[in-house]
This record gives sequence, C-alpha cells and structure tokens, in this order.
Amino acid sequence: MTSRGESPPEGWVSHDGVLRAGVRVQDFVARAQRIVGTCRHDGCSRRLVLQPQELQRQGLGQLNIGDVKRLHMCQRIGGCSLSFHHDPPERPLRLAHCLGKPFVRIRVACRGTGCRFHRVWKVEEMIAGLVKRGQGDHATEIYGLGARMTSPCPLCKRANWRVDVIWANTDQMGWKARGEEYLVDLAQKRLED
Ligand SMILES: [Zn+2]
Ligand SMILES: [Zn+2]
Repeated sequence: MTSRGESPPEGWVSHDGVLRAGVRVQDFVARAQRIVGTCRHDGCSRRLVLQPQELQRQGLGQLNIGDVKRLHMCQRIGGCSLSFHHDPPERPLRLAHCLGKPFVRIRVACRGTGCRFHRVWKVEEMIAGLVKRGQGDHATEIYGLGARMTSPCPLCKRANWRVDVIWANTDQMGWKARGEEYLVDLAQKRLED
C-alpha cells in the first residue's frame, strides 16, 4: 500500500491536493450530515431521511452515497422524481482542523468567470485576520466562509469568493523538495475545479 502522507480529517478527501467532502456513507457519518429526499412526481409525495449511521452499522460504510440514493428510487410506473438535499454538516470542517500543519493552506479564490485571482493563506494568518476584523476565529467553518466575504475582487470588482483547503501529500517528491513553493503551485494548478 502506498502511503499518502497525513490523512485529511475524517469525512474529507484530498482530490489531487484540494479537500472535498467525501461521498461515502462513512464520510456522511463523520460529518454528521443528514440527507433528506423528496419525490415530487405526479401523485407521489414521498419523503425520506437517509440514515448514514444506520447504513454504516450494517457494514455499508464504504458505499457511495449516490448508489444509496439510487436504491431508494420509487418503484413506480412512470418513474420517480426523488431529489435529495444535504443538510449542513453538524460536524463541519473548521479552521482548527488545519492548525499546526505546515503542508496545509487556505485558498481564497474568485469565482468570477474567467477570473483567476486567488490568494493562499497559512491557516494561522487566516485566523489572525478573521479575529482582527471580528469575523471569526479558529472555530470558523471553512466551506461557507467564502459566501460571507464581502470585499470585492481586485480584478473583476465583484464579491464572489470560494474558500478551499489545499492539503499536500507529504509523501510526494514535490512537497519534499519544494515545500512552500509546491503548495503555491498546487493551489494555482487546481484552481479550475
Ligand atoms: Zn416517487
Ligand atoms: Zn475576480
């Protein structure tokens, strides 16, 4: 088995260096995130709450949540219009989860079409900045932070931000050889997704 360096917090996975919410049942358990489905098909008003914890108890923790959703489709002639909504996680990713990790950065990027403006912060700097402006602290939720930032982008003049966690694989040569510089490159290279 190849080692991947230090693993991200439970419930989160690194996609080539950018953290994303994991899509397995066990990831939803780790984030304490509820999933509600509602069918709005003609004559059907079925509503259901998926229970990731229960599925995990049955040994299905590795299952992809998309497959679980498909298994819950209504068996009706004429099809099913079940659509799912994810509640906000009760255990979200917070800045504190990333503290004391030299291989982690917070990336603030403009979401404007064609705009590539972004800044990369050390977690400690990010927290200090939030505290100074009275906008947050170490307990601040990372995904959700972007929507609360109101200063306009210096390039496209709009406030349309997203905040991501850049999490380097410390076993990779790039990190070992180039450290800081590697992280900055990684943050830029993975700007599109
Ligand atoms: Zn239905
Ligand atoms: Zn911009």
